[in-house]
Amino acid sequence: MRPKRDSTAPGPAVVDDATRLDGRACAADLDARTAHRAAACTEAGVQPHLAVVIVGDDPASHVYVASKVRACERLGLRSTRIEHPANLDQASLEAIVDDLNADSSVHGILVQSPLPSHLDEEAITDRILPSKDVDGFHPVNLGRLVQGRTDGLLPCTPSGVMELLRWGNVDLRGKRAVVLGRSRIVGMPMALLLAAKGADATVTVAHSRTEDLAKVCAEADVLVAAVGRPGMVQASWVKQGAVVVDVGINRVDDDTRERGWRLEGDVDEAVADVASKMTPVPGGVGPMTISMLMANTVRAAEACLTKQATH
Ligand code: NAP
Repeated sequence: MRPKRDSTAPGPAVVDDATRLDGRACAADLDARTAHRAAACTEAGVQPHLAVVIVGDDPASHVYVASKVRACERLGLRSTRIEHPANLDQASLEAIVDDLNADSSVHGILVQSPLPSHLDEEAITDRILPSKDVDGFHPVNLGRLVQGRTDGLLPCTPSGVMELLRWGNVDLRGKRAVVLGRSRIVGMPMALLLAAKGADATVTVAHSRTEDLAKVCAEADVLVAAVGRPGMVQASWVKQGAVVVDVGINRVDDDTRERGWRLEGDVDEAVADVASKMTPVPGGVGPMTISMLMANTVRAAEACLTKQATH
């Protein structure tokens, strides 16, 4: 019988019976390659440079931004953090993006989400130059993905999941994949990447209007959960031997922790009894997202170098 998770224990959630798809280990491998490429760019005279814009004082956003800046330092990228109070207006934020677009020393621009509600996030995404859109959310970059061109700047979380599946030797060809969630930043690009030529899965996208969700999920050889509902995916929804990727990061109250909360995924821990491979939360998809952001920034800098060489 699977031992219960010790909620007071530090470190990743227990994934007892399924093989752990360890995002930290996979991210470390990817980071080593990214650091190597970053060093080559710097040697050629172009240090990869990420500019992160943060508006307001959302504590979680500040934690995310700090970890992105730390990752830059670790891998030899330059970073610039631009902070503004929550009352920044749309025109001022657009002017900041315009300046960063025009700054040839900046290769990647990231405007941390969520923005305060008076700001139009989509308009900001659209304003970032596609070549500097290291989040991969610009319509040009998402459009390229729809066209099956997967060699550009891809959204970090879904491309991180693909990297983790490759690293974990998960064969997707011809397999049934179910993506639970259809958001612009995770679910939809995830489905496109799984179905892309080369990955070759047969993909179903499920969402809040899907009928008989449990039955749809149970058909999956590979199930990716990105709903934002702690523990929603139950063991009874999962086919024996399926690969389960838990994208969810949810804060749930926990009196046993000093800080009063812990992180939980969208997948119930009992799923480890039926899955063959599974990502832990934390320590699964989360580290991959930041590593992919670093890789995208270096890719953008490499594209700059190539452009310089051909002019
Ligand atoms: P989102 O924009 O809120 O989208 C959630 C999706 O789940 C929507 O498509 C929604 O359906 C669907 N959904 C919600 N409740 C459902 C239900 N009861 N049954 C079926 N479908 C349901 O969220 P997101 O940005 O994609 O993020 C999803 C989760 O991933 C969150 O926990 C987030 O924190 C986490 N996340 C993690 C990372 C990482 O680095 N690991 C990165 C990004 C996000 P409708 O479209 O019908 O509303």
